[in-house]
Amino acid sequence: MARHQSRCIFCGKNSGGDPRSLSVKCVCRKCNNGWMGDLQDAAKPIMIPLAMGKPAILDQDAQKVLASWACMAVITSEFDNPATVAVPESDRHWLWKNLSPPPDTWRIWIGHFKRSKEFVTDWVHHPMSLTEETMGNSSNSPSSPFNTQSTTFVIGEILIQVLSSSFAPVVSRWSFNSEVERLLTQIWPVVHKQMTWPLPHLLQDEDAIYVSGAFFSFIEVLENADSGFNLDKQQAAFREAVRSDWGHHPGRRG
Ligand SMILES: [Zn+2]
Repeated sequence: MARHQSRCIFCGKNSGGDPRSLSVKCVCRKCNNGWMGDLQDAAKPIMIPLAMGKPAILDQDAQKVLASWACMAVITSEFDNPATVAVPESDRHWLWKNLSPPPDTWRIWIGHFKRSKEFVTDWVHHPMSLTEETMGNSSNSPSSPFNTQSTTFVIGEILIQVLSSSFAPVVSRWSFNSEVERLLTQIWPVVHKQMTWPLPHLLQDEDAIYVSGAFFSFIEVLENADSGFNLDKQQAAFREAVRSDWGHHPGRRG
């Protein structure tokens, strides 16, 4: 029988025991039943009205909880297909220790999305490998083949867009085009004192597809360019036709 990841992806302890008894095979019982369960419980009452499109006000704490839950969802889902893991161990450690996404290398947005009946998918994950060449003189020596990821997922009427990279500047400087930017609200790092839901604008199917692929196509343009990281190239990336492969959330159970 194939052995699954035996070390907890968060605390590093041996996850031990019967993997079938754990809802997430790659984490230890203590994490699963402890802080992860607590975070799930804290996020649930925040997400339910949002997912149903009901009015809600999210203060800074609520935005942080939602962002931390999204960070946890991305990290654990990556391990459903370990070949796609792009979040470094140091970031997983950070979430475990601080109960928040790392502030410099992660950004998370939410949007109000009522998908059409034809839009049946709810998850897209782009693992990417940024190199020093692509990024100019950024200093980092990532150990895994991927060091950057963009994940988009839909829960009811919430679209959650998560971006993380070992190259902090690419995360902090990134912006969607201005038309799409107004459809999304950043919840991590927290920039708004409070956020009112529903948001003033609704995403359409094509906006969701654009959002999920925008960063990936931006990086493709960078990699095809001769020179290093140049923000002006974003404009070219925005004009690229974006098609992305939406799939079903690998981690969604029950
Ligand atoms: Zn653990």
